[in-house]
Amino acid sequence: RSQELSQAHIDYHVALQALQEHGTRMVCTGKMHTDRICRFDYLCYCSEAEEFVFFHSNSSVMLPNLGSRRFQPALLDLSSVEDHNTQYFNFLELPAATLRFLPKPVFVPDVALILNRFNPDNLMHVFHDDLLPAFYTMKQFLDLDEDARLVFMEGWDEGPHFHLYRLLSDKQPLLKEQLRNFGKLMCFTKSYIGLSKMTTWYQYGFVQPQGPKANILVSGNEIRHFAKVLMEKMNVTRAEGGQEDEYIVVFSRSSTRLILNQAELVMALAQEFQMRVVTVSLEEQSFASIVQVIGAASMLVSMHGAQLITALFLPPGAVVVELFPFAVNPDQYTPYRTLAALPGMDLHYISWRNTEEENTITHPDRPWEQGGIAHLEKEEQERIVASKDVPRHLCCRNPEWLFRIYQDTFVDIPSFLEALQAGLKAKPVWKKSKLSGGLHPGRVRDARCQTSVQTSSEAKLTVSWQMPWNLKYLKVREVKYEVWIQEQGENTYMPYILPQQNYTFSDNIKPFTTYLVWVRCIFNKNLLGPFADVLMCRT
Ligand code: UDP
Repeated sequence: RSQELSQAHIDYHVALQALQEHGTRMVCTGKMHTDRICRFDYLCYCSEAEEFVFFHSNSSVMLPNLGSRRFQPALLDLSSVEDHNTQYFNFLELPAATLRFLPKPVFVPDVALILNRFNPDNLMHVFHDDLLPAFYTMKQFLDLDEDARLVFMEGWDEGPHFHLYRLLSDKQPLLKEQLRNFGKLMCFTKSYIGLSKMTTWYQYGFVQPQGPKANILVSGNEIRHFAKVLMEKMNVTRAEGGQEDEYIVVFSRSSTRLILNQAELVMALAQEFQMRVVTVSLEEQSFASIVQVIGAASMLVSMHGAQLITALFLPPGAVVVELFPFAVNPDQYTPYRTLAALPGMDLHYISWRNTEEENTITHPDRPWEQGGIAHLEKEEQERIVASKDVPRHLCCRNPEWLFRIYQDTFVDIPSFLEALQAGLKAKPVWKKSKLSGGLHPGRVRDARCQTSVQTSSEAKLTVSWQMPWNLKYLKVREVKYEVWIQEQGENTYMPYILPQQNYTFSDNIKPFTTYLVWVRCIFNKNLLGPFADVLMCRT
């Protein structure tokens, strides 16, 4: 049984003695509970109390040592969802001497990564909140390798996507429920607690309406690297250069939020693009087989929903078409649009929205979590049914939102094809960004200035510099330089964009005045480099 932790790898008495003498040791990264990940030696878990325990001795270490600020509101977030009050982590404290009175500890020899899955029933949440953050947290700490043991503390059972979590390491992940099988007190020899939030791009609307995160720190490169590794682990191969056999994938849902005329949609796509159209659904085939199909598709068409996270397996240059039910504004629900738009994802995103009320089928009598509204006051039900646009709202139980998002839709083919054609016209040429690969210029070198006074009211300021060092190794379409000139003591400056590496300024340059001059390089209009050290130039 995989649950049996091999005690052979550690000497039990040595471990017990270390715990008794040295207690627990904790060293964390991050300044705030929202960006903290902690590494522990000998952190224990008491399954009876369902609490982690930090044992204090003379040589135990706790950094940061927050005192009671540890509870304001928590030491760290156990999931990648920021500052969610159901996802906080903390531990209890005991003197190491109390070990004498406690059940004999069982030691976990593996290096453990302890975390909460946020919503393991939903494929989008599985990828965005758990798999990507865990994958890159494991990249951050070298000993979290393929032998690492993942421990899920959110308390759920395996869930429908457990096979995906198993791809993260060679060891079977442990669930909170299983921890009690190891005894009343288990101690993790080495463990990390918390998840990196660096790879998440979407916030679900707990504090403000849902939308892209304010400060996205991940690019398509990291997402694609993750996708590639996962495909290898699933034994999915990406067919190379299959120009001959281009095809479109329609991802269908078979229980809720249906496309009611899916056959018609498939025919229309095949006709319009003269391509094969393949349908996939989570209910009908294995996840690996879906990834295999999507991995070589030219276009992915789907109703808004968690299944669209599979867009991250599309090849570069593919098109993502997301369909929205009546009264749902595509601009307000953008997890997949934001994913497609990450620099380096090279996906072309197009949305379509049902604007014809007669083409929607509502389900007022279903349970509330599937969009039913029968439990609401008559007046409120009437208001919702009459509304043609769901107003902005917070997560997660807004009945009007649920009512609309769980509608089934007859997709109006002419309007759908029109949206598609309009969107495809604007399709960018990816080659552009490939040229310099989105790399940034270095600092300009040898920046200097020379000045001369012409008359009592005129002066000249010549600024020159050399190109950044990395430019000679790069193919860059357009290289420009930006110069800022500020009169000392003023708080405004004059910006100039120049193609060459020196320039003599005479407009607005006064004699016997000190100017501060900044110079930087710009590749392809928007790739800014750093400013060189400021020049002090006295006329
Ligand atoms: N799901 C599915 N088929 C359906 C409806 C849902 O496979 O007909 C899956 C969906 O991909 C997601 C989970 O069930 O992983 C929850 O779906 P829900 O509609 O609650 O969430 P959403 O797709 O809106 O994120």
